[in-house]
Amino acid sequence: MVVRLLTVKRIKRGDNVLVLLGKDQGKSGVVLRVLTKENRVLVEGVNKVKRHIGKKVTGSEGTILEIPKPIDISNVALICPNCKKPTRVSFKIAGKEKARVCKKCRKEITEKEIRK
Ligand SMILES: [Zn+2]
Repeated sequence: MVVRLLTVKRIKRGDNVLVLLGKDQGKSGVVLRVLTKENRVLVEGVNKVKRHIGKKVTGSEGTILEIPKPIDISNVALICPNCKKPTRVSFKIAGKEKARVCKKCRKEITEKEIRK
């Protein structure tokens, strides 16, 4: 059994990621949700699946919605906000803080503030 010591997520909500595998390979988008248990991420505009919504839901004619489905977290690479390149992440521990560091430019990856 593999025990994960570091609890800091490699990919977080609001990150810009590049899709490495699958039908949307090469696309990039913003992470909308991280599904930690499933090791999946929901990326804006990636892996869209057409869903037919019937009359019961819409009250009128049925409609087709495109819903993004989560993809495996190992299939995406974080795009570093500093050097704008897809990169791997390492962690830096300073006191109680764990920060993510870009392996390419060695700069800290700061989280974007998400406002509601
Ligand atoms: Zn970088």
